[in-house]
Amino acid sequence: AKAAGKNTCRQFTEDMNVDALDKLKLKALLGTAIENDEFRLVFQPQINIETKAIVGAEALIRWRHPEQGEISPARFIPLAEESGLIVPIGRWVIEEACRQGKQWFDAGLGPFVVAVNVSAQQFNNGDILGLVEEILYGTGFPAHYLELEFTESGLLNDICHSISTIEQLKSLGVKLAIDDFGTGYSSLSYLKQFKVEKLKIDQSFVRDIGVNAESLEIIRAIIQLGKTLRLEVIAEGVETENQLQTLRALDCNEAQGYLISKPLPAADWMAFYQSWMARHGM
Ligand code: C2E
Ligand code: CA
Ligand code: CA
Ligand code: CA
Repeated sequence: AKAAGKNTCRQFTEDMNVDALDKLKLKALLGTAIENDEFRLVFQPQINIETKAIVGAEALIRWRHPEQGEISPARFIPLAEESGLIVPIGRWVIEEACRQGKQWFDAGLGPFVVAVNVSAQQFNNGDILGLVEEILYGTGFPAHYLELEFTESGLLNDICHSISTIEQLKSLGVKLAIDDFGTGYSSLSYLKQFKVEKLKIDQSFVRDIGVNAESLEIIRAIIQLGKTLRLEVIAEGVETENQLQTLRALDCNEAQGYLISKPLPAADWMAFYQSWMARHGM
């Protein structure tokens, strides 16, 4: 048992080293990704469950390195946060999303909300307010169609700072959503102070529909909470018709997920949008 324990320990250390090397390498590559034009955004449609209209597009970052290939955001966003690179990357994301949104609106598409993920680090240390103001002004994208998605953990870091930043962002006209709702610290009492517009039910609960009765009760409770506080509620990760119909029966406002569409390259958005809207009589 002793030997096995020792062995396990050594193995663990080796894995850690490989991990650390990999992390260092990725961080270095990440440092030049913007200037080498390796990022792009994909957009995932969000629909109103009742009318089926596309009401939003969540921008999700993609990184393709010439040698490493496609690297998932779940892997590199945490590294970008650790190294502070999330600030320039986050700036690139908001700017590119607004630029793209403006182009679509100018072409006569929409309007619909363009939602952007803002990481904790970017929200707390990145002068998010000045940045958003500058980008809205620079791109000409209308503030009330820009939605910023935060996680609960990002907001709870420094509550006073969060409350005042949220207030100032709202005074610009920007919309705010809490992402992955239900998985964080579930700071229910702060919802009163963080005056956000929308809650995004985490996909782990949606995945459990029809499988786990507790998850369904959590979804029901979040939707009820949304009603009481007059917040929009969107469910993400909707993959099946059964999940969508369950969410509809619970009176959830909006849905996003593979059932409707995978995240789309910007070049494919217009065709998808037009055919979806036509198919649903709009
Ligand atoms: P998230 O914000 O919760 O985004 C939802 C993730 O679920 C996306 O993964 C999306 O592609 C995926 N997804 C959408 N519909 C479905 C579905 O029906 N089933 C399943 N299984 N998955 C679905 P993605 O694009 O790999 O992003 C992962 C995470 O990385 C995001 O989670 C977000 O936290 C982060 N991220 C992505 N883009 C950005 C960004 O531009 N900035 C920041 N700060 N974080 C980002
Ligand atoms: Ca999100
Ligand atoms: Ca989410
Ligand atoms: Ca997530």
